[in-house]
Amino acid sequence: MGVDGGEEEQMQESTECHERIFVSVRLRPLSEKEIVRHDVSDWECINDNTIIYRSKLSVSERSMYPTAYKFDNVFGSDCPNRQVYETGAKEVVLSVVSGINSSVFAYGQTSSGKTYTMTGITEYAMADIYDYIQRHKEREFILKFSAIEIYNESVRDLLSADSSPLRLLDDPERGIVVEKLTEETLRDWNHFKDLLSVCEAQRQIGETSLNEASSRSHQILRVTIESSAREFLGNDKSSMLAATVSFVDLAGSERASQSLSAGARLKEGCHINRSLLTLGTVIRKLSKGRNGHIPFRDSKLTRILQSSLGGNARTAIICTMSPARSHVEQSRNTLLFASCAK
Ligand code: ADP
Ligand code: MG
Repeated sequence: MGVDGGEEEQMQESTECHERIFVSVRLRPLSEKEIVRHDVSDWECINDNTIIYRSKLSVSERSMYPTAYKFDNVFGSDCPNRQVYETGAKEVVLSVVSGINSSVFAYGQTSSGKTYTMTGITEYAMADIYDYIQRHKEREFILKFSAIEIYNESVRDLLSADSSPLRLLDDPERGIVVEKLTEETLRDWNHFKDLLSVCEAQRQIGETSLNEASSRSHQILRVTIESSAREFLGNDKSSMLAATVSFVDLAGSERASQSLSAGARLKEGCHINRSLLTLGTVIRKLSKGRNGHIPFRDSKLTRILQSSLGGNARTAIICTMSPARSHVEQSRNTLLFASCAK
């Protein structure tokens, strides 16, 4: 076939890259509000990988939009969080116990189900991690938890009552670090749940005082897991492993849409969300292969997550969408993002 060594190597590499980013799409059920206004569902998951647009496309639409979209996984409106976690995120999450950084993102327009999805995934993931630790008594594990919110390119500690913005520092050894960020060593599952409540409360305090909605901010929960073989087994510290898993509940993807008119943007009182836009570019470039410049430095979100996205890190992206006809434009944007991430 005339494939020389060089090309073969390149092909293998791109297959590897391909497997580091897993993309799923999740449909939520029609909401009460949508049902009351007689909105209808336009989308259907017809198998484990394919979601289709059920309604008839007009002639002009037909040249612009596909009717079927394929991803690693698609989840229909009756699919529970547990299954979304097991199929769409578990493998990526658990690579953290073998020392590989990982991240799970929820991407989608406001009210499409990002928080619902990430809350479920984070809890199942932590339960699995604790279960793994229980079954591996030969190693000693230390779990550290931190939580931040990025709003308007400003970083805030969700575990601290002090809401002043935090700086990012380039540490020669650890890479990007958030200066003065609270990092709690987790005692157990209950401690983890308590810290989640603290984050939730902090997030709400921020919202009222700034009079802003969560649709504009990104939330990142991070758990760093360090482990080493127990000394009495005669092992030394060289068997130490450390990695971080990041759970990211993104700002509403309508913040990334270029299609908003200038007037609409003014009315919204905000610009396109730089972190969200940069994340899109970074993920697109990563999914195409890792050569070339990847603009991690262009936003706070991508700077903070650089080591959880680049290198050999593994990423799961769950794109959430409303099935409603009234949201078709945003749903198509979400599917476009998901397709580019693949
Ligand atoms: P977002 O975080 O994207 O703004 P939410 O997660 O807050 O959206 O979801 C909006 C509403 O829809 C919430 O009331 C949530 O409980 C509900 N919801 C979202 N996804 C699902 C789902 N898969 N099944 C049932 N209800 C859902
Ligand atoms: Mg939300």
